Amino acid sequence: MSQVHLRAALNAIPTYTPGRSVAGAIKLASNEMGYPPLPSVIAAITEAAQDMNRYPDNSSGALGRALADRFGVSPDQITVGCGSVALCEQFIQATCGEGDEVIYGWRSFEAYPILTKVVGATAVTAPLLAGEALNLPALAAAITENTRLIFVCNPNNPTGTALRTVELQAFLDQVPPRVLVVIDEAYREFVDDDDVPDGIEIARGRDNVAVLRTMSKAYGLAGLRVGYAVAAPEVTTALHKVALPFSVSTLAQAAALASLESAPELLERCQQVVLERARVRAQLLELGYSVPESQANFVWLPLRDQSAAFAQHCEVAANVIVRAFNDADAGGVRITISRPHENDAFLSAAASFPR
Ligand code: PMP
Repeated sequence: MSQVHLRAALNAIPTYTPGRSVAGAIKLASNEMGYPPLPSVIAAITEAAQDMNRYPDNSSGALGRALADRFGVSPDQITVGCGSVALCEQFIQATCGEGDEVIYGWRSFEAYPILTKVVGATAVTAPLLAGEALNLPALAAAITENTRLIFVCNPNNPTGTALRTVELQAFLDQVPPRVLVVIDEAYREFVDDDDVPDGIEIARGRDNVAVLRTMSKAYGLAGLRVGYAVAAPEVTTALHKVALPFSVSTLAQAAALASLESAPELLERCQQVVLERARVRAQLLELGYSVPESQANFVWLPLRDQSAAFAQHCEVAANVIVRAFNDADAGGVRITISRPHENDAFLSAAASFPR
């Protein structure tokens, strides 16, 4: 038995559990892009591999400038991180100490509670409206003197629901300027409703609003770990201070740059996913499932206590791995939208699930 003194607080913190991968199965459990990187991106990775004896560019300078150009912001507003999950951690570390409060809707991205509790901050949650959509008035009502950070996941993972411009603006107007709001737009590129705001646009002129995006989903680089934040320069400086040195590899930077150069082609793939999302949802509705409207690359089935059984059925009946969240009252299953034949395999399982 180890005698090492570990932090007692860790006993109450779960280990992050990713979607399962099973050899030979169709994985629709981690909201990944179903298509591999473009040949031009693989060529850029191969070329960058020649420099593997050197440390990466710690500032991700070329990539940061490319992102700043793309979004019409200054390079001193960009932070590149080892996946956007690392940036979630940096936002918390930059704003919170022991006892400070982080607010987010629940259920939402699994990493928010873990990262919050690891730094000794207090997680404050507001339940989703009807178990589906973020409840902005409830988030605003939860703000106290100790609030430092609010995560607004839009579209929300795992329910896929999205906030509209007017409600998000009204919420931001209510948040005191001392509190940082991070709009987590990991799934932004799959939004097709014009009334869902672009966080980078809505954050212009608001120094306490930052936006988080990732190359893992739309750009299909989950395995390389690249995310980025757009924030006010002072916030950006703080994010850099708490960053782990050299955490964005040379391969990741090269792949992200090459992917941005091929953005039109890659975003066209997202449109295929958006079309498939509509097809899958329509068929699920026809089968009698309740399916909230999704603006992300996944759909959510609020199956409550049937969630685990449904996921098990998908695996046994169609070799498809989906992600069940087994909350007692608000459980559901999240299914990533992927290539048509994979979505079809899932739909066949959904059709044969005994209910
Ligand atoms: N934010 C949200 C809402 C997510 O769903 C995810 C990934 N599941 C992330 C951030 C982190 O993604 P990554 O670290 O791959 O950029």
